Amino acid sequence: MEFTSNNSDKALLTLQQLVQQAFKQVRLKVSSCILCGNSCALHPLLCQYCQADLPYFKHPHIPYNLLNWPAITQLIPKNHFQRLLAVAPYVWPFDSWISQLKYGHKTELAELLSYLLVLHWQQYLNDDQPNLNAENTLITAVPLHIKKWQLRGFNQAHLIARKFAKNFDYPYYSDIVIRQRRTENQVGKSGKERRQNLKNAFALNKSALEQLPTHVILIDDVVTTGTTANEICKLLKKNGVQTITLLCISLALPT
Ligand SMILES: [Zn+2]
Repeated sequence: MEFTSNNSDKALLTLQQLVQQAFKQVRLKVSSCILCGNSCALHPLLCQYCQADLPYFKHPHIPYNLLNWPAITQLIPKNHFQRLLAVAPYVWPFDSWISQLKYGHKTELAELLSYLLVLHWQQYLNDDQPNLNAENTLITAVPLHIKKWQLRGFNQAHLIARKFAKNFDYPYYSDIVIRQRRTENQVGKSGKERRQNLKNAFALNKSALEQLPTHVILIDDVVTTGTTANEICKLLKKNGVQTITLLCISLALPT
């Protein structure tokens, strides 16, 4: 009996070793940095050197809340959100990653972008220690029109926001804000035209939540003029939200 048991233990050990080896090989295969090809230690898609070398906004020279930065106050003079945080300007590799995610359907990049957003938010919480009511906070994402969603198959902001919320244990509601009207592309439009284009584009889905919390973190992939976010923020504020944080991966600064 003992002999048999030892043999089966041995067989089990060999099987375990084989599985471990296979896992190691798969990990090695997927864990090469998408920027330099070196092996990764912190995130499966990005090595720690490339991660440290990304073109982030240079904090603390630039405030975490970009609304306190004079360059932004001129760019977005009227805002209905109290905080604007972005990981980086809309430059390489962020512009390439966001475009590959949206148009190349590389949804694994949502995980990477969300990971960078989590680190950024954590640094902000540690450094600025904002007076946030975390218990009364919810996360939502800038919605896509249902037709666009169906065409693309996913909403990139939703993918990023969902993973972000899970990391901090914030409640995530994907359907608080609805895009009820399809709008034209905002690129190349003046401020007035942008606002006109977005008029009545959004609605609140009150059945999703009986009462909105006092603080909402609205997540988007790229913020340019903030017009879209402003329209959503106006709606949220009309319905009892007091503070809104607009949190995005990249801010597209005018050149
Ligand atoms: Zn690298």
